[in-house]
Amino acid sequence: MKVHLRTLGCRLNQSEIDTMARQFQQQGHEIVEDPTQADWFVVNTCAVTHEATASSRKLIRELARGNRDAQVTVTGCYAQIAPEEIRVLPQVSRIVDNLDKDRLVEQVTGLPLESFDREPLEREAAVRGAQGRTRAFVKVQDGCDNACTFCVTTVARGAGRSRPLHEIVEEIQYLHTIGYQEAVLTGVHLGSYGHDWDEAHALSGLVRAILTDTDIPRLRLSSLEPWDLSPEFFDLWENPRLCRHLHLPLQSGCDATLRRMLRRTNQRQFCELVEAARARIPDLSITTDMIVGFPGETDEEFAISEAFASAMQFAGMHVFRYSKRPGTAAARMRGHVSEGIKKMRSARLRALADDLERHFAEQFTGETLDVLWEQVTGATEDGFVNVGYTDNYIRVRAIHPRVLSNHIIPARLDGFMEQAVSAVPVIA
Ligand code: SF4
Repeated sequence: MKVHLRTLGCRLNQSEIDTMARQFQQQGHEIVEDPTQADWFVVNTCAVTHEATASSRKLIRELARGNRDAQVTVTGCYAQIAPEEIRVLPQVSRIVDNLDKDRLVEQVTGLPLESFDREPLEREAAVRGAQGRTRAFVKVQDGCDNACTFCVTTVARGAGRSRPLHEIVEEIQYLHTIGYQEAVLTGVHLGSYGHDWDEAHALSGLVRAILTDTDIPRLRLSSLEPWDLSPEFFDLWENPRLCRHLHLPLQSGCDATLRRMLRRTNQRQFCELVEAARARIPDLSITTDMIVGFPGETDEEFAISEAFASAMQFAGMHVFRYSKRPGTAAARMRGHVSEGIKKMRSARLRALADDLERHFAEQFTGETLDVLWEQVTGATEDGFVNVGYTDNYIRVRAIHPRVLSNHIIPARLDGFMEQAVSAVPVIA
């Protein structure tokens, strides 16, 4: 069977779809990039905003329109919270519950996952590596026990639960043996890893075990809620294989808004955490998520939030316009903000995000940093356009006669232009 897999939304969804790809291949099925070649589509949907649900529906319709013979299996947060909206879409034959997602492949094919057969995966990995798939997203945890008032994720993914440490270590070592250069640990609430076993510092233990027991050259952590981290956590970065990048979702820089969001942080705590992290990890990149137009957000609250984001000197910000999600406490709050005001605030914060990103990247002009080259985005008369990331998450572009994908090669950073820093690879 030829399977075409698509995902929307977060890195957790990406890691899940990567795992499904490996499982389909393990059973001898083929993953195809071209949807017109597929017998089956699997779509991992997202419901974080109105736009995400609309994009999920649009994708399913487009896939069905382009290939009338393929059946569609749908999973993910949107399918979980509104299955009736998915069921009516063309060619959808199956909806898989988020809690059953780990068994989606077995449900689609009707075959149990066989004992681990690596050979077909090794062949496939070589192909994927050549296409620039160099970073593996590894899901270590699912679900969340918090109750942020805007968040539909707790409704869609249930309570927190963690994967066994030894299983994750084995998976990462295996991913390295088949060519991956970087593993990114992901979870709905990564910082709560091990809390379901009453282990407060299990994430530190997991990171240490991966760094000790695997040879993966780079390890990166995805989003971490600020209240899960203590200053001692940053001692882990004594090991240079741990990427100097923290994504700490702030959501708002105004204490009053944060209280209504039921976020367990405030300006002072967040600021102290950032200072502690920067004191221990030189050249650290800190990125964040921000929501604009949360119910009751006044012009003054927004101005406070914007000023705080600027003061934090983030290296990047994802800006989201608040959208009412069914079943959440915020949806029932008073003081919903008009779409026009949300758009205006979003534009202001995105402009700030661009400035901060450029400012962070330009601090490294003239320096030579290791780059994991991930893909080729084009070609010129002078060579291939290679794109990659430094460990502190600066996007770098270099024109070079060779395809550099899937190698860690240092590069001298020059000027910032068009969302990336131009660089010159330093090859001995
Ligand atoms: S910490 Fe808050 S925003 Fe993050 S998944 Fe849990 S409830 Fe949602």
